Amino acid sequence: MTPTECVEEIVFDPELSVADKAQSIIEYFSAQGDRGAENAGACLMETTDEAVAEYVAEYLELVPDARQVKVRAAERLRAAGPVVRSAARLVPWFPESVTDAFIEDYLASPDPDSPLASVIFNIAVYHPDRLRPYEDRLGTSLYRASLLSGAPDERADSLLRDWRETHDRAGLLSLALIRTPHAADLITSVRDEVDTYEEWEWLMPLAGRMSDSGAAAGFRPAFMGFVTDRGESPHVMGGRYEQDVPLCARCNAPADRVLTLSVSDLPYEFSSDPSFFWFSCDCDEVDILYVQFTADGTRAFYQPQGPSAETSRVVPGELSMTLETHPNQTGVSRAAITGRSRHQVGGLPRWPSPETHPLCPGCGNFMPFLVAVDSGLTPFGPMGFGGSLFGFWCDRCSMSATRSQI
Ligand SMILES: [Zn+2]
Ligand SMILES: [Zn+2]
Repeated sequence: MTPTECVEEIVFDPELSVADKAQSIIEYFSAQGDRGAENAGACLMETTDEAVAEYVAEYLELVPDARQVKVRAAERLRAAGPVVRSAARLVPWFPESVTDAFIEDYLASPDPDSPLASVIFNIAVYHPDRLRPYEDRLGTSLYRASLLSGAPDERADSLLRDWRETHDRAGLLSLALIRTPHAADLITSVRDEVDTYEEWEWLMPLAGRMSDSGAAAGFRPAFMGFVTDRGESPHVMGGRYEQDVPLCARCNAPADRVLTLSVSDLPYEFSSDPSFFWFSCDCDEVDILYVQFTADGTRAFYQPQGPSAETSRVVPGELSMTLETHPNQTGVSRAAITGRSRHQVGGLPRWPSPETHPLCPGCGNFMPFLVAVDSGLTPFGPMGFGGSLFGFWCDRCSMSATRSQI
C-alpha cells in the first residue's frame, strides 16, 4: 500500500474517533523516521480528500524543518481546490514568495468563509507584515487581532489618541499587543492615566517590558519548539531529573521535568540551564512552581522536595525539544487556543488571555517569559497535563517559575 492508501484506511475507519485518527496517522509517519515527512509530503501532492489532507498536514505541522517538502506540498494544495485549507498548517515555513502568492489568490475574491481564508488566517499570525498592506481589502475584521503585531507607529499613535478620548480598555490592549518599542513607550507613558495601577502592570509585559524594571519581558530571539525523540536536540523533555524536584504537598508525588534548556546551545546569556517542572497528580495543589538552581543542587520554593520519579508522566517518556527560528519575531498578537501543540522558547508569550508575569521569590522582581509548552498531540502520545504551561526565568537568581493556563 502507498502512504496515501494507508492514511485513507485510517481516515475512513468508522470505528475510530477524530482524536484516534489524528494520533494513528501521526504515529504511522513518525515510525518511518526521516522518511516520514517526505512520505507525508507525497500524500499532500496527490490527495483530493479534505480529511486526508488535514490529518497529514497536522502531522507535518508537528515536525521541525523539512521546509522543502512543506513548501512544495503547499504550492500543490494552492492549486487543488478545497484541500487548500490544509496549507494553513504549513504557513510557518512559507518563504515570502509563497506567502505573497496565497495573499494574491485571496485578494482576487476575498471570502472569509472560503478554505483559502484559513491559510490567510495563519499568514496574519506568522507573517503579519506581508498581509498588513492589504488590511482594508480583506473583507473582514477576522485578521485584525493578528495584524496588530508589529503595526506601524502611526497605528500605535492613533490607538492611543482614540483611547484618550473614549477610555475604552480594548484600545489599550490593542496598543500593547503591537509589541514594538514605540508601542511599549506609549504604554509606559500612560501609567498615571489608566484607571488602576494593576491594569498598567499587566499591559506592560504584554507590550514587552517589565513594569517594575523596564527590562525586556522576554528573551530574543524567539523559537518555535517541536517535540522530538530523545537525543535529537540537547534540550531535554521528560525523563528522570538528576536532582531534587518539588513534591506535591498533598500526595507527595514528585513533579516531572517538562523541559531543560541547554544554555550552551542557545543564543541567551544565562548563568545556568533552566528547567521547568509540573505535577501529573490530580491534587491541583499549586498554580505555580518555583525552582532555584544552585551550586548545591535544586531548591523548591513553597513546596517540599525530593527525588524525581524514574519516568515522566507529564511528558510521554524521555524526549527532546527541537527549536526553529520563529517567523514572527515581534510576538504574535492573536490570543492562543491551548491544545494546539504550539511550543515556544524565547520571544513574548502568546497568552490564551493576558496575564501578569510571576514575581521572583528570590529578588522580588517580575520574571521574564522563557517557554510555553502546550498539551496538544505529540508524535509520542498525549502530554500528561491540560492547557498550556508557561515558564519564566530570573537569571539573576537562577530561578524558574512554571504556571499553567487552560
Ligand atoms: Zn498530588
Ligand atoms: Zn530573581
